[in-house]
Amino acid sequence: MTTTVGREPMTIGDPIRVAKTVAAQVLSAHAATVDREAVFPAESVAAIHEAGLLGAAVARRYGGAELSLNEQVGVAKELGRGCSASAMVWAMHQVQIACIARHHGDGTELAATLTRYVTDGTLVASITSEVGVGGSLRTSTAAVEFDGDRAALRKKAPTVSYGAHAGAYLVTARRRADADAGDQVAVLADASSSELVPTGPGWNPMGMRGTCSPAFTFNAVVPASHVLPAGFDTIAAATMVPHSHILWAAVWIGVAADAFKRAQTAVRKRGTTDVRLADAARSLTQLEALLADSVRRYAPIWDDPAALDTLGGPGLTMQFNDLKVLVSRGSVDVVELALEICGMAGYAEAGPLSVARHLRDLYSARLMIGNERLIATNTQLALLKRG
Ligand SMILES: Cc1cc2nc3c(=O)[nH]c(=O)nc-3n(C[C@H](O)[C@H](O)[C@H](O)COP(=O)(O)OP(=O)(O)OC[C@H]3O[C@@H](n4cnc5c(N)ncnc54)[C@H](O)[C@@H]3O)c2cc1C
Repeated sequence: MTTTVGREPMTIGDPIRVAKTVAAQVLSAHAATVDREAVFPAESVAAIHEAGLLGAAVARRYGGAELSLNEQVGVAKELGRGCSASAMVWAMHQVQIACIARHHGDGTELAATLTRYVTDGTLVASITSEVGVGGSLRTSTAAVEFDGDRAALRKKAPTVSYGAHAGAYLVTARRRADADAGDQVAVLADASSSELVPTGPGWNPMGMRGTCSPAFTFNAVVPASHVLPAGFDTIAAATMVPHSHILWAAVWIGVAADAFKRAQTAVRKRGTTDVRLADAARSLTQLEALLADSVRRYAPIWDDPAALDTLGGPGLTMQFNDLKVLVSRGSVDVVELALEICGMAGYAEAGPLSVARHLRDLYSARLMIGNERLIATNTQLALLKRG
């Protein structure tokens, strides 16, 4: 099916090089202000879209750039080097549009809507977490209520990244009012049919300040056809969990790699050697290797979601969970070493050797789907994993 509307999909010669240029010229120029003022990185997201990278993860028939998983990982790392918050906005958006592209079934209207979003550079935000169930991805309290050809939804969302800047939301909820907490669907809600009422104290966190992720009460009434036909269990297993853990890990490695580069500069300036630089390099190499192996294992499922039936299982789920847990911790370890190497120049909030923002941003990694929840899941799965 070709449903491309508006301008033709962009052909990007070398997407990783393009991302590197955009990160160096635009993202890094705005990163300090975005962080200090906790504002949405509008210029950076516009530059990413202008470069043709905002639709990176979806096929050309939806107006996307159809990048391979390895290319997406390369782009995520480069963007992460420039500005963690912008890179994370990019990564979260990729996961949402990939879920729609890969699980809309024969929904021609959903496909046309996705194409419009990708072509226009409309951001799609994620509303999976919920007050009362915290970050338990596979549990919802909110439920979809059908009325003829309309579906209504109300959800108390504790954290919605770029919620006020998105043009659409992919929201999880129970399939019906009488469905179990784990019997979930994903609903695509256009901003024009949604209402976000701010709740809580507003957004003033330690790091990832540019993601602008405060709490909202979310209300929407959408066409019933905007309830994705695949159950959310399938969407989560075949796309949302592996894709998000891979792209988040790539962003975090990119942030850590930028801190490593600053530590390298400090050591070169001193004209000495420093064993801590070798320690940091070794940690980065380990994280890169784990990420590369996770991409290798996910690639056949990325190419064909149905391959999950034969390739999925406890071992694969455990690997994606471990990837997230290990990179969320390991990237912090790298930046802590960079902080020690750079000393007070690293501790300063500004300057070429500062790694303060990197460290503050990366402390969010362990909370984005709390590590303890993933470890609890793996604790159960470890009993089933084949040796
Ligand atoms: C930068 C950033 C961006 C995010 N963006 C989004 C987004 O766009 N969309 C979205 O949906 N979510 C988003 N999240 C939310 C995230 O993925 C998690 O859902 C959220 O962090 C969970 O909230 P919490 O950490 O307060 O979790 P909670 O589940 O409330 O856990 C807090 C602590 O309480 C403990 N705890 C909880 N329940 C119990 C219990 N019954 N018994 C004992 N201990 C318990 C936990 O172990 C944990 O230590 C984002 C998070 C971050 C950091």
